[in-house]
Amino acid sequence: MSQLYDSTFFKTTKLFELTDRIFLLSCGATMLSFDAVTGAPKGGSAVRGRAEAYIAAEAFKIAVSDEMRAAIEELEALENLDAITAAAVRQARREYDSRCKIPVHIMREFSELTTEANHVWEDAKVANDFKAFAPYLARIIDYNKTFIDYRGYTGVPYNTLLDDYELGMTTDKLDIFFGTLKNTIVPLLKRITEAEQIDDSFVTRYVPKDKQKAISELLMNKLGYDRNRGQLRESAHPFTTGFGSAETRITTHYYDQSFFYSMYSVIHETGHALYELGKMPEIASTMLDDGVSMGVHESQSRFYENVIGRSRAFWELIYDELIAILGDEWKGIPVESFYRAANKAEPSFIRTEADELTYSLHIMVRYEIEKAIFAGGVSVDELPELWNAKYKEYLGITPPTDTVGVLQDTHWSGGSFGYFPSYSLGNAYAAQILNTMNKEIDLEALIRADKISEITTWLGEKIHKFGKIKPPAQLFTDFTGEDLNAEHYVKYLNNKFEGLYNLK
Ligand code: ZN
Repeated sequence: MSQLYDSTFFKTTKLFELTDRIFLLSCGATMLSFDAVTGAPKGGSAVRGRAEAYIAAEAFKIAVSDEMRAAIEELEALENLDAITAAAVRQARREYDSRCKIPVHIMREFSELTTEANHVWEDAKVANDFKAFAPYLARIIDYNKTFIDYRGYTGVPYNTLLDDYELGMTTDKLDIFFGTLKNTIVPLLKRITEAEQIDDSFVTRYVPKDKQKAISELLMNKLGYDRNRGQLRESAHPFTTGFGSAETRITTHYYDQSFFYSMYSVIHETGHALYELGKMPEIASTMLDDGVSMGVHESQSRFYENVIGRSRAFWELIYDELIAILGDEWKGIPVESFYRAANKAEPSFIRTEADELTYSLHIMVRYEIEKAIFAGGVSVDELPELWNAKYKEYLGITPPTDTVGVLQDTHWSGGSFGYFPSYSLGNAYAAQILNTMNKEIDLEALIRADKISEITTWLGEKIHKFGKIKPPAQLFTDFTGEDLNAEHYVKYLNNKFEGLYNLK
């Protein structure tokens, strides 16, 4: 590995010792929560909950200790730090400040509120009863405004929350970003809804779980997911977790009449896992052994899911083996039909079920609403109406209930604001990566030749290996030669969907 990145000094520091203790505690907490949602018996949930709370409290004590402050200050006083130590100090300072600026008793109140709010939201969603959730949401928003008061902001208050998920992100940058998306996707979707529709009726055919599991194995093999450092399990909602490059696990969910669901969630989560597993050994099990931002993490999952997994080349690669698993009754469906069905675009209410084209419109609705909330431009009571008006404007449809409208996502009940835009940034980053990649390697040829591992190696060299060493904006400008922008993404969408729907 390059001489530029040497962790010998960092591993002798007090900062490493303290953060290593936090890392080891977090390994225990990660496995407890992973186990809880992948089949642990219910009987032990109380003691497991206590263990998780204890671990979190011990880690918090170290994180806000005088020892930690001294360890950071000691390194900040040194000049000419190597790249790994410098990045670790930057990261440690950021985490220390964000933890210490807000009084502990306020954080505890907030944590109790969101635990309760989450239960209330679950019931309110089922009952289509926004009024039951509204007072909790109002209090969660007030707490977030208080946090911003403690932490300060540049520009507008909402920027502080955006920065938590994507370092350096602001409403000024996102307004331009979403403006470009809106001007392209809204008219393109309109042309698509007026064009001849893609027939995807076969995707709801019954596929038993054992066959879907075999498909998952096929996909993980094609993508090169190392099962010696990873594992697939089942949970209600797919996700990725683990200990960074040492071990990263994924989950999926199987539906008898939607095998595309498990297929594309396995590809998506494998994308997250390949990023985690691809980091350089010098930073393994350190505080830099993590994805650099939510947006960049999502760029990797979406690159594998959409750019690779929804390509014609990928469908040609897996077609014979897929049909062998599905059985003879599927033989009559040509590969082109699978490819087209996997890329069908249409307006829908639910973000998590949205297709590649309309996905960012769902995010834009949430971004504009969150921005208005923190600018003081909208009250909680007005949210359902505002939500529905924006769906009508951008997607051309009006949610019939709040269950499939403003109540659909869990993020707000958990206290998270500023998170949603990273999903769209991930799509745009992925298109920007593709634009640079096309100048150096032949993506389609590699997929057809069953050499996806060479694509992963390329991504590893440009992105994965750095973990948190470089800030996200620098990571991208270093290898694409330009700042984040929406231009490549809208060009990619126009090209792909005009082709699919014969709009050219
Ligand atoms: Zn993801």
